[in-house]
Amino acid sequence: MSGEARKIRLLMHLRRSGITDHKVLGALERVPRDLFVPETFLDQAYEDKALPIGLGQTISQPLVVAMMTQALEIDDRHKVLEIGTGSGYQASVLAKLCRRVYTIERHKILLETAETRFAAMRIHNIVAICGDGTRGWPEQAPFQRIIVTAAHAGHEPPPALVEQLDDGGILVIPMGDDWGGQQVVRFRRDGDDVQREDLWPVRFVPLVPNMPA
Ligand code: SAH
Repeated sequence: MSGEARKIRLLMHLRRSGITDHKVLGALERVPRDLFVPETFLDQAYEDKALPIGLGQTISQPLVVAMMTQALEIDDRHKVLEIGTGSGYQASVLAKLCRRVYTIERHKILLETAETRFAAMRIHNIVAICGDGTRGWPEQAPFQRIIVTAAHAGHEPPPALVEQLDDGGILVIPMGDDWGGQQVVRFRRDGDDVQREDLWPVRFVPLVPNMPA
């Protein structure tokens, strides 16, 4: 089967699995996932699977990328913060839908590789830094949307991320651990109020906060 045929098959699978937002499907269609996976896994680039990207990390499963992106309800005026750049795939999908993506990755090598891909694809609305994403990016706040692509092992979202969320903003974050199970949770900020909505079970690599200075 050709690469293009595999991609069409994947998009049809996403649609059948509940991805109804045409803008989200269009963004996934326009970002070639084969540019984000290691060469040894190229033949699986359009399978609905998470794949290893080195350092024990993974590029997320396409359905999870699509569902989390859809849950964010993004529009083209939004500033979006992503925690966990990884391969850069999710950031590139977001970049097709919003004004600017700010993305933070703790592994320098992964970050540099992702930045090379953004340049090669001529994506110019992503700004990436190396650091601890649980602290957010205060200089660039507020963000209309925040997405975390690693599992946060706590009952409350990281306080810095809630603080940096704009009024009316949405935070989508996997919460929990391997023992109690993880789920994707959506928080909506309404003034000083934050409403929580549990969305669906998921499995992510852990969000690793840096040791306090
Ligand atoms: N969004 C990525 C998948 C990310 S996997 C993609 O599309 O490919 C989760 C990533 O979160 C890993 O690369 C991991 O190194 C990173 N990560 C974990 N804890 C972090 C933290 N505290 N700050 C920033 N990045 C973190």
